[in-house]
Amino acid sequence: MPDLPLIANVDLLIVGGSAGGVAAALAAKAAGRSVLIVAPRPYLGDDLAAYLRFWCAAPPTTDLGRAIFPDGRQAPSPLHIKLTLEQACIAAGIDLLFNAFPAGVLRSDSGDLAGLVIADRNGRRAVRAAAVIDATHRAVAARQAGAAFAPWPGTPVEFRRVVVGAPALDLPGVRREDLGTLQVPLEKGPQAMAVVAYHRAESVADGSVAELQAADIRLRRSIWHHQQLVASEASWFLPPDPLAGAVPDHDGLPAAADLLSALEAVPGRLWVLGGCARLSRRAAAKLVDPAVLLAVGEDLGRRVAGLVRPAAIPIRAELPGSWRPAPGQHLRSAATGARPGETATTWIACPDESLPDVAAVDVLVCGGGTGGAPAATGAARSGASTLLIEHLHALGGVGTLGQITRYWYGNRVGYTRQLDERTVAMGPDPRYAQQGKQFDWFQSEWKQQAHLLQVSDAGGEVWFGASAVAVLIESAGTTPRIAGALVCHEYGCGVVTASAVVDASGNADLAAAAGAPTVTTGAEHVAVQGTGLPPIRPGIDYTNSDHTFVDDTDATDVTRAFVTAKRKFATAWDLGQLIDSRQRRQIVGEYALTPLDILCDRTFPDAICRATSNFDTHGFTIHPVFAVVPPTKAALWAWVPYRCLLPRGLDGLLVTGLGMSAHRDALPVVRMQPDVQNTGFAAGVAAALAVGAGRIVREVDLDEVQRRLVAVGSLPAEVIGMSDSFPLSSAAIAAAVGDLKNHLSVATCFAYPAAAHAGLIDALADPSRQEAAALILGLQGDSAAAPVLRQLIDASPWDEGWNFTGMHQFGRSQSRLDALLVALGLCGDTSDLPRLAERAGQLPADTAFSHLRAVAAAGTALHQRHPSAIAGHLLDQLLALPGLSGHARNRIADLQAEQSADINDNLERNRTLKELHLAVALVRCGDPSGRGRAVLEGYARDLRGHYARHARAVLAEVPVGARARMH
Ligand SMILES: Cc1cc2nc3c(=O)[nH]c(=O)nc-3n(C[C@H](O)[C@H](O)[C@H](O)COP(=O)(O)OP(=O)(O)OC[C@H]3O[C@@H](n4cnc5c(N)ncnc54)[C@H](O)[C@@H]3O)c2cc1C
Repeated sequence: MPDLPLIANVDLLIVGGSAGGVAAALAAKAAGRSVLIVAPRPYLGDDLAAYLRFWCAAPPTTDLGRAIFPDGRQAPSPLHIKLTLEQACIAAGIDLLFNAFPAGVLRSDSGDLAGLVIADRNGRRAVRAAAVIDATHRAVAARQAGAAFAPWPGTPVEFRRVVVGAPALDLPGVRREDLGTLQVPLEKGPQAMAVVAYHRAESVADGSVAELQAADIRLRRSIWHHQQLVASEASWFLPPDPLAGAVPDHDGLPAAADLLSALEAVPGRLWVLGGCARLSRRAAAKLVDPAVLLAVGEDLGRRVAGLVRPAAIPIRAELPGSWRPAPGQHLRSAATGARPGETATTWIACPDESLPDVAAVDVLVCGGGTGGAPAATGAARSGASTLLIEHLHALGGVGTLGQITRYWYGNRVGYTRQLDERTVAMGPDPRYAQQGKQFDWFQSEWKQQAHLLQVSDAGGEVWFGASAVAVLIESAGTTPRIAGALVCHEYGCGVVTASAVVDASGNADLAAAAGAPTVTTGAEHVAVQGTGLPPIRPGIDYTNSDHTFVDDTDATDVTRAFVTAKRKFATAWDLGQLIDSRQRRQIVGEYALTPLDILCDRTFPDAICRATSNFDTHGFTIHPVFAVVPPTKAALWAWVPYRCLLPRGLDGLLVTGLGMSAHRDALPVVRMQPDVQNTGFAAGVAAALAVGAGRIVREVDLDEVQRRLVAVGSLPAEVIGMSDSFPLSSAAIAAAVGDLKNHLSVATCFAYPAAAHAGLIDALADPSRQEAAALILGLQGDSAAAPVLRQLIDASPWDEGWNFTGMHQFGRSQSRLDALLVALGLCGDTSDLPRLAERAGQLPADTAFSHLRAVAAAGTALHQRHPSAIAGHLLDQLLALPGLSGHARNRIADLQAEQSADINDNLERNRTLKELHLAVALVRCGDPSGRGRAVLEGYARDLRGHYARHARAVLAEVPVGARARMH
């Protein structure tokens, strides 16, 4: 029986991010209650911002309302709404958790509501709560708690979608409402843009998620216009099925006295704040007016705070429905605590005996981003019934919602070319004519729509605002198999079963949920590619940013990133909703592509994509080959084997996009959008073919997959029958050793160390190859290289070094002397620690990060083989230099106070990387004063996930009391 970690215990849990919910939270907090808000989107105020509801019917009567609508009745931008609500919560000390949904209830042994299960891409967790306010659009938590609702009516439901910037359209069957104009900050300055709402009555037979999603997509498609700058994230409707029971017999606002009972769903424990309250539909329409909901929310929060009674003790979690797992099937997720690496002390039983059932398909694709949308198209076109679920409100991922509407390299052939042609055909735009057939630039709205049309036209179904939060595992065979997922969305939660699943989350979410081995930041290193969260300025599709690192698997870090970035770009129209992480969690695949494969242009028999890019590293490399020959700006080519998509030890799943298996220094060459799209399409085709043949994806007929990919032009014909070009011949290795000047020759030596060894030893005596040979041998720990390395180091003064600058940072990420020191550290002897100490003693406090990284690495390597007190003292002294320590942060307010408006800010990362590298090395070298451990303990609680993970992993490897063993 799976158990859920209990991660919080609060007086009041508010689910749903509506402005009314925030008003309630603030009032309850002011009354002394502890409050947690769990919001489905990466911001608060979704009832306003997601639906572009900028106006209220009458001026607000509360302070929060006046702050949101500073002109009396109009909010100036989505970001203003979100920022105002968030900052009010931060100032009040209210905890926030974004991108999460209610996914069941906690019960006490007497059956009382004791809290909720909340779920996000990282899994399900339990939150104990004395009281719950359900501020979700569809009263999801109340339904899960078993409250009775009016039956879904047979009459059509009116859906409303708002568009900014396009001309007003007269469409059959659609009622148009001209809402006025908004000042929108365009590139040339603020401009008044028309805002139009379109209403259409749609028949929805039963209110199921599939039907509601289909109605939304029909409306999206019918009113789409190529000039639209912004559109609602979803179609809004007033729920026609409120809480069951007698409603107040008037259509006005409920009187304060009957407010509580009209909103209550589970007496004394749970209140519904929103359109599903037990009110006449006319009264409910008035309630959801922003100013009214804010006032009612505030009143409700105050009253509930006064009613809170001790929380019941949860003993079990449930999400009742009519679907029962088959024998051997169970739900699984990766969550063990509030943050990765944390293990809760209390666990709640979650038998999952019966669950809501929402769909059964051949292929389920999770994540409708750059790779996922093409995967769904590939699967649907290959004959599979296909469901694509996307957490956000549109398709395209980084390439659209991430504001990276530009290709950087990438092989623009095959499916990518089809998609590009469809995108540019969405409307007239002179920019596309100018760029010829290169398809470098795109309009975000166009590409979102092109992806949607591609999937839909192929027969695939799409659900927006839907996240996979757990996987359905079948453990009947020898290898566990994924048989579906638990999917949460804004209308509820349920199981989707599938014969094959494509994990296109870009973060290996499903593979990790299933327990397959994955790679994230750990003790080994904290080398992560830079991450952005871009400001949005309508009309500007492309905004490339690199100002932070975000661990997508850490809900706390993700929430931190969104909150601080909104503050950073406070004057923008909005903030992007997709965290632009260039490097995320990856699977350990059947094969992991390496930089050596790429540098040797290795061919594979199971290639499914031909990718190209240069080493766009956005950070520092860690593979030793680049210490000898740094990456260059020249484009490289890489074949992507199918095995990189197959997680080890797990059947039924393909992982495409950034979650695939590749060394982190190989990823830059295969992560460009054209290639991610083609790989995703290939994954979809493979999944569908496997299902069609009744096979698991691991055993698909790869020849047939390749033939189909050749037919669409994604792969060249040469791939058919292609073999592995490794092992290389001895002649090729000998030629490489005789050269040692370029990537191919150096990579060959690293790929075949034994075969290259004798030649490299000879090369130590050849002045033209001596340095490269010494580096290659030294980095592999061969002491024969040490004399040459010592000579070279002694003859070299400290050079410029390298600091973390993320964006536009290509090539060398350590200096020549840094590389020599690291190599000597790995192969030197006791005489080298004093040499290193002497050189390190010359470094000023503001020295480059790469010098400190090199000293830390060399010192650790020497110390681990030749323990002495030298390395510990050296690193301790360095860390004590002014300004080098004290940069861990565990309060959002501190991070906000320090950040700049620079979209490519590096200061914070550079100083933190310096401190972390020194502290980690110090801890590994004995830590004589305890300074290193103290620093790492600070980082272990850091809000920034990668630093916290790294610090925790290192602390776990060096037990308390291990220090001073050298004395
Ligand atoms: C800042 C930045 C700049 C870049 N610059 C360029 C460039 O200039 N040119 C270029 O070609 N490439 C560029 N790249 C690389 C390229 O854009 C990415 O490698 C690629 O887009 C990643 O695609 P993906 O499908 O793996 O992930 P994404 O595009 O991020 O798609 C993942 C999708 O899955 C959804 N999702 C996640 N988890 C779940 C879940 N559990 N359930 C449901 N949905 C889920 C997400 O919302 C998202 O839409 C850049 C990348 C970044 C981050």
